[in-house]
Order: sequence, then C-alpha cells, then structure tokens
Amino acid sequence: MPKTVGVLALQGASREHTAALEKLGANVLQVRMPEHLRGLEALVIPGGESTTISMLLESSGTFEPLADLISEGLPVLGTCAGMILLAKDVIDGRPDQKSFAQIDITVRRNGFGRQIASFESDLKISGFTTPFRGVFIRAPLVQSCDPSVETLATIELDGGGQSTVLCRQRNVTVSSFHPELTDDLRIHQMFLENLD
Ligand code: GLN
Repeated sequence: MPKTVGVLALQGASREHTAALEKLGANVLQVRMPEHLRGLEALVIPGGESTTISMLLESSGTFEPLADLISEGLPVLGTCAGMILLAKDVIDGRPDQKSFAQIDITVRRNGFGRQIASFESDLKISGFTTPFRGVFIRAPLVQSCDPSVETLATIELDGGGQSTVLCRQRNVTVSSFHPELTDDLRIHQMFLENLD
C-alpha cells in the first residue's frame, strides 16, 4: 500500500520533496491548513526560512494540531529549516519563532558562518554503502545532541571537530542539508521504509 505523506507547503522547498516522495510511490498531500493533516501517515517539513514557516504555522492555525500529532508519534522528516522547527533548542533564532521541540538537539541558525553559508559535501551515512551528496544552504549547525539521539551522519568542521548533520530520535528524523535537491532518493527511501 502506498503511504500517505504530507509535505508542509507554507513556504520553502516543498515541490522538490513532493517529487522525490512521488518517485518512490508515496501518495503526497500538500499541508497548508489544519484540515490537511487528516489521514497522514508521515510528514516532511522542508527547508526554507524557519521564521517564516513558524509565523505561517501560527497564522494558519496549524501549529497546535501538528505539535499534537508529532508528540503522539507521527513520523516526521525535517530538512534544514525543518530541522530548526523540530529542535528542542534554537540559538540565534528570532525571539518570536516557535519550534515543536521534538528532538533533543541544540542548533544554531545559520551556524556554518557567512563565508561558507552554502556548500556541498560528500557524507558518509550510516547504512549507505556509497557517499550521499549533502547540499547545505545557510544550514543550521547542530551544537549538541542528547545521547538518546541517534547520529546517522556527521561533517568535519573547518575549525576542527565534527557536527551531526543527520540524526533521529523516536519518530523524528532531521537533516541540516537538503536531500530533496539531489537526484539521490536514499534518505526519502529510508524515511518511507521506516514507516513499515
Ligand atoms: N537559514 C534558514 C532558517 O533559518 C534555513 C535555510 C534552509 O532551510 N535552507 O530557517
């Protein structure tokens, strides 16, 4: 049976996620209002601008019902701004931006710095036999992860050390990069396979 997956389509890269999920055979619904949440088996929160998405979630009345669904266990994939919207703690966010706080990580908005605001990097992802091309666009930097968060990929930082770029806790998976901006469907596939 094809899975019914919502893509939050208030702002940002919803079209690319929709295309990737449809290629994998999912039945994709665009989510813009609370009534669009009905019947979803999973949801993707795309990249874009977390401040704008937060504002539109509130003004459309979608924030509260979606927060309830995620805390009740709806599987969610959040990419880039989506990671920020799901993180428990956000540094350098706008004071009025809200987060679902459903994965125990601290992220710094635009944390990779101005010079390297956008870059690509081959990532070694747990369970994948070949590298995945990570596209980073003004990405959040994961500053800390609770030990209960499962890290699936990290990146070496210029100043030394490494940072998580793909991780999972319970029903919530987040990436700081944009898997929807490559032709590689493996992250969407992993997300769909975990619904079974
Ligand atoms: N910097 C953006 C934000 O704060 C995220 C960028 C992205 O999603 N590509 O929401």
